[in-house]
Amino acid sequence: MTSPTNPTKVDEAQAAFRRYLRNHGVKYTRTRAVILDSVLEFRDHFEAEQVIHLLRESDRKVSKATIYRTLPLLVECGILKEVRFDEKRAYYEFAFGEAPHDHMVCRRCGRIVEFASDEVVALRAKIGQRHHFHVTSHRFQLSGLCWECSTKCPVVTMG
Ligand SMILES: [Zn+2]
Ligand SMILES: [Zn+2]
Repeated sequence: MTSPTNPTKVDEAQAAFRRYLRNHGVKYTRTRAVILDSVLEFRDHFEAEQVIHLLRESDRKVSKATIYRTLPLLVECGILKEVRFDEKRAYYEFAFGEAPHDHMVCRRCGRIVEFASDEVVALRAKIGQRHHFHVTSHRFQLSGLCWECSTKCPVVTMG
């Protein structure tokens, strides 16, 4: 999902991050503000390495370790969502105040298709209720072949 261009939403995200850090006894430093600003610049899914690169390129000096420490905080406070399209790497995307969506990943070319499904959201509430569990988020990912790859080679359905 794309990051906000709406300034109110950016302010709200900053306020939420400040609040979260304060509640957890962590200081809202200038460095953390810089990291938050930079992740809001991405318009798509991104990796920690891309944040490091972006900050370096724009001459904003933040250590790699601080970036790696701050990203999980942004996930915990709900500004970012962590997504995994493969076993190797974690990707992030903006999630603050966004309706939940899921992903389809093409196993051949890596194309990522986002979709939002009311059925999935309804199902997670139903499953939660059944187990007396208050569900706040979920992970649901489909993998297969995209339209382009499946025309090149027939699809085999697996479990
Ligand atoms: Zn996404
Ligand atoms: Zn494909």
